[in-house]
Amino acid sequence: MTSTHRPLHGRVAIVTGASRGIGAATARALANAGAAVVVAARDEGALAALAEEITAGGGRALAVPTDVADPFSVRRLVEQTLGAYGRLDAAVNNAAGGGHLPTPLAEVAIEDYDSALTVSLRGVFLAMKYEIPAMLADGGGSIVNMSSTAGLHPVAGLAGYVSAKFGLVGLTRTAALDYAEAGVRVNALAPGPILTEQLRLAGEGMREMAARSLPIRRIGRPDEVAAAVVWLCSEASSFVTGATLPIDGGMMAGMAPFGRPGRTGEHAETASA
Ligand code: NAP
Repeated sequence: MTSTHRPLHGRVAIVTGASRGIGAATARALANAGAAVVVAARDEGALAALAEEITAGGGRALAVPTDVADPFSVRRLVEQTLGAYGRLDAAVNNAAGGGHLPTPLAEVAIEDYDSALTVSLRGVFLAMKYEIPAMLADGGGSIVNMSSTAGLHPVAGLAGYVSAKFGLVGLTRTAALDYAEAGVRVNALAPGPILTEQLRLAGEGMREMAARSLPIRRIGRPDEVAAAVVWLCSEASSFVTGATLPIDGGMMAGMAPFGRPGRTGEHAETASA
């Protein structure tokens, strides 16, 4: 295969939140692009199955059970990556959790608000804190942090999630500024509605509403986010740092035209989340 087909040949990447959804799709895409992938999350069984699937397909993968809320666990993730593969070139800080159901701000429990920030914002800070020195040791690297369109355009009732995802955009830009000269690029993605577990559980009606609200009239697939991650981790994006890229079917461009029906999408329904 040519380097165009395997742009990450010889590279080593960490993906957090890789036990399912966008993280799992991203790990598969990075492995297909030639990277050795270290998959991290709390669900040991799901991680082991994913690592086995990638290895059976001819790729290289290591499962490292990790809780991004725990600094020691995150440091161990990077140490085990270096122990197994000797370097770190790319990191996708995708894990998100904690938070609360849609609730007006004054009724949000303090511990629920804290949990969103601990996992989805501080977890990314911790990941970068340990990933960046490992990347610097080998001349640089590329980090992709998973924000959301809710990190660019607030959603009512989601104080915890919105705070974390807005915070990630600022954290990404700060890290990009701190390490641009040293060769570590740091970018964020802002997905719109993507067909993973939560949207599946939300039911057909919710998915149709989400699809209708988007200019592209369908919800997205995890592999459509993963493709952008591969690009941001490759040399093809070598002049891009500090950016937040919406992957949202046009959602951040403005309002979809009124009056046309949405479609949950033949593409979205065949997603491999
Ligand atoms: P998901 O299905 O809820 O998966 C979340 C992942 O994070 C899981 O692998 C989970 O694994 C992991 N995780 C949660 N808490 C963790 C912790 N304390 N330590 C380590 N891992 C933890 O999410 P998704 O839909 O694939 O979304 C992935 C990312 O994209 C998230 O950052 C999300 O906010 C963002 N996003 C998604 C959408 C969408 O529509 N799907 C839209 C915008 C942004 P374990 O439970 O095994 O730990």
